[in-house]
Amino acid sequence: MPAVLQVAIAVPLAQDFDYLPPAGIDAAAIAPGARLAVPFAGRTRVGIVVGHAEGSAVDTRKLKRALRVLEETPPVPAELSATLAWAARYYQHPLGEVFETALPAGLRTVKPISAAPGTRALRRVERSAAENLPRAGSRAATLFDLLAAGPLAFAELDERLPGWRSAAANLRRRGLVETTQLALRALPRIPIAGPPLSAEQAAAVADIAAQFGRFAPTLLEGITGSGKTEVYLALIEQALAQGRQALVLVPEIGLAPQTVRRFRERLAARVEVMHSGLSEGARARAWLACARGEVDVVIGTRSAVFAPLTRAGLIVVDEEHDASYKQQEGWRYSARDFALVRGRALEVPVVLGTATPSLETLANVAAGRYRKLHLSARPGAARLPQYRLVDLRGKPLQHGLADETIFALRACLGRGEQALVFRNRRGYAPVLTCRECGWHAACARCDKPLTWHRGAARLRCHHCGAEQRVPSACPQCGSRHLAPQGLGTERLEESLAQLFPGVPLVRIDRETTRRKNAFDELLDSLVPERAALIVGTQMLAKGHDLPNLTLVVIVGVDEGLFSVDFRAEERLAQLVVQVAGRAGRARKPGQVWLQTHHPDHPLLRDVLAHGYAPAARRLLRERREARLPPYAHLALLRADAPQQTEVDEFLLAATALAGQPQGISLLGPMPAPMPRRAGLQRGQLLLSADERAHLHAFFPDWIAGVRASREARRVRWSLDVDPVDLY
Ligand code: ADP
Ligand code: ZN
Ligand code: ZN
Repeated sequence: MPAVLQVAIAVPLAQDFDYLPPAGIDAAAIAPGARLAVPFAGRTRVGIVVGHAEGSAVDTRKLKRALRVLEETPPVPAELSATLAWAARYYQHPLGEVFETALPAGLRTVKPISAAPGTRALRRVERSAAENLPRAGSRAATLFDLLAAGPLAFAELDERLPGWRSAAANLRRRGLVETTQLALRALPRIPIAGPPLSAEQAAAVADIAAQFGRFAPTLLEGITGSGKTEVYLALIEQALAQGRQALVLVPEIGLAPQTVRRFRERLAARVEVMHSGLSEGARARAWLACARGEVDVVIGTRSAVFAPLTRAGLIVVDEEHDASYKQQEGWRYSARDFALVRGRALEVPVVLGTATPSLETLANVAAGRYRKLHLSARPGAARLPQYRLVDLRGKPLQHGLADETIFALRACLGRGEQALVFRNRRGYAPVLTCRECGWHAACARCDKPLTWHRGAARLRCHHCGAEQRVPSACPQCGSRHLAPQGLGTERLEESLAQLFPGVPLVRIDRETTRRKNAFDELLDSLVPERAALIVGTQMLAKGHDLPNLTLVVIVGVDEGLFSVDFRAEERLAQLVVQVAGRAGRARKPGQVWLQTHHPDHPLLRDVLAHGYAPAARRLLRERREARLPPYAHLALLRADAPQQTEVDEFLLAATALAGQPQGISLLGPMPAPMPRRAGLQRGQLLLSADERAHLHAFFPDWIAGVRASREARRVRWSLDVDPVDLY
């Protein structure tokens, strides 16, 4: 008879803790994954039951009793609990913190979760006075019309009418609408039917559906707009028909209201959205509803990979190559990799969809571990864009653009079509320099140039967030000749406005899209059939269709060609192909002009002449020769501290503790590629092994030693298993 509960508590210790069950309850009656209130270090904390035991290494008379069980249904199903415990070992991260990261904040405290409040909704006021009606065609009028059929939940209005809140304020002032409560989220309406699938899509659906009920990882490779989402939807319908749930992960930028709306409209099911932007209560309630099996489809960003599924049927990871799936602080998990581990535990197919697969996934396909399906054609008449390299060598530039680029832009706009100018740097200029003495504004805490944000009249550090005023004179020589160097999106916007006066122009980057829905509202503001210019950062690689967009201009990619980061070229190839995919999505053919000083660079040659696949094949060969991932396995021990000696001593101690581990090479200690950030000195030790097993055999004792070392107390340190960047 088990008498003792093993409990994970959110504290930075690798172990779990033993407790007796609450008075009057059998330990055996408490399922793994249950949430408990437990006394811990003088406070009441949340613990998750991770196992049962007959006895304890601690004298059972001294064991404390848990105070109470917090919910009837354990919020963490056994499969998730086991997968998290596995992940704690894999990533060598404290079990309690792994659970803390996985659970929504609302479930990390003992405060009971309030029952779902009635969903707030907007409705027309009875007998609204007709003379107060807003102007026909205004957003307020559109909103008023939408409400004709009855009240609509705020969440639904968010999806159907971006910017509705200001329209609602307008109607409220006129006494036309009021807030009300709905008992429950409206049940799904009758779903809208999708387009008939192409033969290729239908084959992909049949192929994956044949794998239902077992773990089957599949790469679904298809260019942007080739209809991958339609394949997901068809598969989800089949899973739903079998009474199963689906989990869909999308990158941060991919979770536009448009995407969510598409899923809700198409599926006769309860679709929940999970992402970090939800309120604590909403997230916790969505989680519990999911654990009770009341949710059919979960769609969300990175952290949604932890959604508790009780009748899982399918997992989809859209844009699997996207870097936002990797958590970059605390427990540095990869949501894509975790999705695969869950797929195995849940015995469900995992679909990895993308136009530009990560090299890891391609290597898994080549090794026969993943299956691969292809969507090669775009539905309808859409054609692939034509690439063109613009050799910048020896050419005068106007506002950072070559004459022929400007000519192409002018021609495109002249045809009444739209053009996108891509530059992956926000701000006005990456550097502000003194013309007289060469001084440049740098962040005192990072030793890196500060970016000039002209509109905001600030200098900002893109590494630590530090901000300062723009000096009116050079602090070194007093000269007033301060000038921007380099080109950010803000400056590009200004240049384009000068070159093409009167043409509607929107800028999409982190600055202009801070407000909720701003991204969609900006793109919505363009009249589809009319000429327009869009300038922005990689946020533009995704987002809704712009059928009249026929020209993409890519500027400033050369930095990515010669980076010290071994993944830089892979990322650049993905970015170029993704951005290029925005052109020519409807009937009109698209063109992509890429400006470079290195027209002979093999990466650009490959991508432009043959597309992503050959470029990826060459990069894979290079990785194999250099013994880099995916042909080697890396882990990075990072440390930072105010003093360099503290970092050095810690890393030296860690190196000494490591000795000469079998099958592992140690590189370092060495300064991080960015040796100072936010006022802290940074160093690292890189571990590399041909076989993963060597690392995992070595980690437990080593990390336990590192954790216990005296030097560890004087630095902040972390272990990053499978690091995505080495910074
Ligand atoms: P992806 O997810 O690969 O970017 P989508 O599934 O979003 O592609 O499809 C791109 C566009 O093509 C969408 O507007 C979609 O409605 C349309 N589409 C997809 N499949 C078909 C089809 N079989 N017939 C007609 N239109 C389709
Ligand atoms: Zn100066
Ligand atoms: Zn800084």
